[in-house]
Amino acid sequence: MPQDQEPRPLPTPDSQELQDLVTEAETRAVYQVLYQSRNEPLEMTAIREYVAEITGKSNLQMDRRLRSLRTHFNVPAERIPDKRNHFVYPLLGWKPDADKRTARKSIPGSVRALIFQTYGNRCAACGRTPKDDQVKLVIDHMVPLDLGGTNDPDNLQVLCEEDNHNKQALFAEHQDDVPALRKSLSLPEVHMRIGELLKNMAGEEVPKELIVLVAREENHGDPTKRMRELRSLGWIIKNSKRRKGRRVLSCYRLEHWEPWPPEGPQAAVAGLERARKRSKRFREG
Ligand SMILES: [Zn+2]
Repeated sequence: MPQDQEPRPLPTPDSQELQDLVTEAETRAVYQVLYQSRNEPLEMTAIREYVAEITGKSNLQMDRRLRSLRTHFNVPAERIPDKRNHFVYPLLGWKPDADKRTARKSIPGSVRALIFQTYGNRCAACGRTPKDDQVKLVIDHMVPLDLGGTNDPDNLQVLCEEDNHNKQALFAEHQDDVPALRKSLSLPEVHMRIGELLKNMAGEEVPKELIVLVAREENHGDPTKRMRELRSLGWIIKNSKRRKGRRVLSCYRLEHWEPWPPEGPQAAVAGLERARKRSKRFREG
């Protein structure tokens, strides 16, 4: 951007522009406090108090909400001179690449219509429709833009607002895993994409949605088969369920892994499958 150009104005806290960017009301409350205090920035304890006043909730994950705002805005932690470990949080403006990012967010109307048509005006996650279930449908990026996803029709799907919100909340919760997700997405083979993510998050409960995301498979659904194939390579992966409010998340936890076979996991899995069929024929023969 040329130096003499006016900086892009920040959205006001109650604007549609902010609502489109930041879907969680509590995170918008944090923005509101940062926005109102931008000329005299506050310390975290004060920000927390004001946010509690606005939302009526005191137990908010401020770190996560600040991180999520920082994907769009420049909010550094500035040390207060002469005070050790005291920081204020000035809202300085948009992040330098935010322009590009929001530009990428706009999807042409014709593409939107095509996606709604492809999905039969039905949520890809729960199957509900506006007509029968009074849900509102939105276009969702399967691989989020922040993870290198594009506006390509291949990367777009239809979700109801509730499932879209749940997905965004899940990613907000896993902001720290973004480098691991990016790394996995860059790998050529599906078993490696899943396996390397599990290794990076070893011992943790990894929600199925994250596995499906890095798997990038046509059916977008059930990773059970790939998990079975990894297990056939000697990996120990446990299934578990995690309660999250009203929902139960299906998760996987890696307990043991083996090095990748020299011929690559895909070839190794295919080899094992052929051997299994041969021995079955032999037993039956
Ligand atoms: Zn849904």
